[in-house]
Amino acid sequence: MSGPVAVNDLPSRTAPFDEVETSCVEITEDREAMVGHMKVRRALPRRGRRTVGAWCFADHMGPADVTEGSGLDIGPHPHIGLQTVTWLIDGQVLHRDSLGSEQVIRPGQLNLMTAGHGVAHSEEATGHYRGKLQGIQLWIAQPEGTRHGAAAFEHHVDLPQIAMPGADVTVLVGSFVTDATSGARHDTALVGADVVFHGGAGNLPLRNDFEYALVVLAGALTIDQRNVTPGHLAYLGRGRDELGLHAEGGTRAVLIGGEPFDEPLLMWWNFVARSRDEMAQAYDDWQNETSRFSYFPSPLARIPAPSPYWLRAGS
Ligand code: MN
Repeated sequence: MSGPVAVNDLPSRTAPFDEVETSCVEITEDREAMVGHMKVRRALPRRGRRTVGAWCFADHMGPADVTEGSGLDIGPHPHIGLQTVTWLIDGQVLHRDSLGSEQVIRPGQLNLMTAGHGVAHSEEATGHYRGKLQGIQLWIAQPEGTRHGAAAFEHHVDLPQIAMPGADVTVLVGSFVTDATSGARHDTALVGADVVFHGGAGNLPLRNDFEYALVVLAGALTIDQRNVTPGHLAYLGRGRDELGLHAEGGTRAVLIGGEPFDEPLLMWWNFVARSRDEMAQAYDDWQNETSRFSYFPSPLARIPAPSPYWLRAGS
């Protein structure tokens, strides 16, 4: 459930980030994409809304049926300059990477992979699991200070959980309220949280220096008389101390937020960088199997990079 980011997701030239709005409700429709054999709904990036804090990518995968012949099958592929955050609602996924990690992830657990200068990984069916598979994968753009650094992988099973009036919150990354901080690494000030609403009117506490968005995975929310359902991203801007909303019972959403990310950024395929030269180098390193993206064994085929569109004739 990772990438690739295509030209039709966003303008692919390096550009400063989109306008940070104040306390708004801006609803954008997800774009359907195929990742391996799975259909995903891509909430970020979208034209006009590329980042929320340092969050730069969100794919909601499934729910899909895992059978003997059909499961997650994303073969080895590279990343640079980003962290992948994987969170499952249903099912199991096996993560392998070029650091030697081999980790099954289940609902309630978090996989966080930091790419830095370069890493490769695969996301595979476990082989024995049968049933529903549903989850979300998010990417976080790394800042200049860490994006050239070493790759890393973390698996977290003990995330902070908060029982609020009207909602149960699990903090994936960052801090949701002052005393609920995830142990997952983060390189910029941000938060990611899974929220399950009991139904009815409620309030989520927010930080007024963060911008936020909600990705609804199931059910429906009403914010400022606007309905937000699966398949949509609700961008909320910044400057809010709390968010008043109304939820259908059983609604589930992921809240992402952070300090607006003020570095210009280029996203293409599975790479987050700053320039086409950096992209071309990462492309060459993957295609030529240099030591930048170390080999690791996987039963799935290595995914070749598409040729950079800006190097193709006529473009
Ligand atoms: Mn990936």
